[in-house]
Amino acid sequence: MHITTKDRIFNHLPPAMIAMVLAFWAFSPKTLLDSPWTLPVVSALIVITVLLLEQVHERHAGWRMNRQEFVADLFYSVLSATVIVWVSQAVAEDPLRAAKASLGITTDWAMHMPWLAQVALVIFLIEFGQYWMHRLMHNWTPFWLTHAPHHHITQLNAAKGAVGNPIELVLISLSVVALFDLRDTAIFAAINTTGVISVFAHANVRSDPPRWYSFFFTTIRHHSLHHSTDYEATRSNFGNSLILLDRIFGTYREGEGVIVGQGDRKRLSIWEQTMFPFQPIIDMYKARREKARSGQADGATTA
Ligand SMILES: [Zn+2]
Ligand SMILES: [Zn+2]
Repeated sequence: MHITTKDRIFNHLPPAMIAMVLAFWAFSPKTLLDSPWTLPVVSALIVITVLLLEQVHERHAGWRMNRQEFVADLFYSVLSATVIVWVSQAVAEDPLRAAKASLGITTDWAMHMPWLAQVALVIFLIEFGQYWMHRLMHNWTPFWLTHAPHHHITQLNAAKGAVGNPIELVLISLSVVALFDLRDTAIFAAINTTGVISVFAHANVRSDPPRWYSFFFTTIRHHSLHHSTDYEATRSNFGNSLILLDRIFGTYREGEGVIVGQGDRKRLSIWEQTMFPFQPIIDMYKARREKARSGQADGATTA
């Protein structure tokens, strides 16, 4: 395939954006770094930038953004940045931090590592947890029921990483980072770095990053295969941002998906995604009630 200058530029955008994010958190003025708004604003800017790139250099016409998809993506992006963050803080991070304090655990060594090493440690901690949580979701029904809605999406776009059942979104956000003493800016830089990687890995952008990048980091090729209609292929490439973990743990698979979506490729509404894990129980209850009712009717006719 002929590679144009435009392709070449787009192929280097993911690593360039990571470099920008790291430089931002390393060198910005202190007032900016200390503001509670900086992390959510940078996170949103990453998604908005890649959404705009979708308009400039599209990957597949079948994944083109439309109003219905945009509304759902926006809903889940806001949900992830608010409710999901609050819940995971309340159920995981705050208790972890309290336990760490009461047990007197200190990790001074982490605080004294070079800043970039701290960023790398946070990326590894987040991704290692997410890899095994994601793999568990694909292998155990109760967890799969929370993750399945994310696989029912029928096209890929920059914000699709945020689309899923709310329980799944909380589960996937769990990490042990709170147990370590680290610079806040290193944690935020790690969050934005994995953000850049996973946003590009869900985006409808014709960008195939250089070989060294796709050795370590998840790309749209890896992740579109994970979202494909081929069941066996969906059980590979679990790494949200660190595809290296799939290479290490033997779940890496080469390829690319174009037609995406689970089972019958039925697109789920926000309500259906929310209710999805409870649907088997609801169906069972309904069937039982139906049976009881027809039993009554039988009784009435024979009486
Ligand atoms: Zn999955
Ligand atoms: Zn995905």
